[in-house]
Amino acid sequence: MRITKQREIILQILREKRSHPTALEIYNMAKEHIHDISLSTVYRTLKDMVEKGEIVELHMEGETKARYDLNLDNHAHFKCRHCGRIFDIEIMFPLKLIGFKVERTDIYIYGICSQCSKKEVLA
Ligand SMILES: [Zn+2]
Ligand SMILES: [Zn+2]
Repeated sequence: MRITKQREIILQILREKRSHPTALEIYNMAKEHIHDISLSTVYRTLKDMVEKGEIVELHMEGETKARYDLNLDNHAHFKCRHCGRIFDIEIMFPLKLIGFKVERTDIYIYGICSQCSKKEVLA
């Protein structure tokens, strides 16, 4: 019963917050809905949801904390090294790998986002 509630709240947070939040960020937002929720519960629920394929865990270069994403469609992640934002990037799938059965695809791209690029030109 409790697990269902926590899962619902986490799904709701990920639906509203498309910034690929970390467990700690999710925990801080979840506290507003469930006052006695603990960080370890959030970690446990997230781990369970990742294992069940309901959400995706991201590991961006240079970050110690995993991030979470509700978007299960194949997409790449672009991290702007200027503003730190992470963008969902559509790329052409499926990758044709003859003889290989693809179970998961993680594509991380690093650089400067379009907004920061514009600012750099202006500066
Ligand atoms: Zn940027
Ligand atoms: Zn994403």
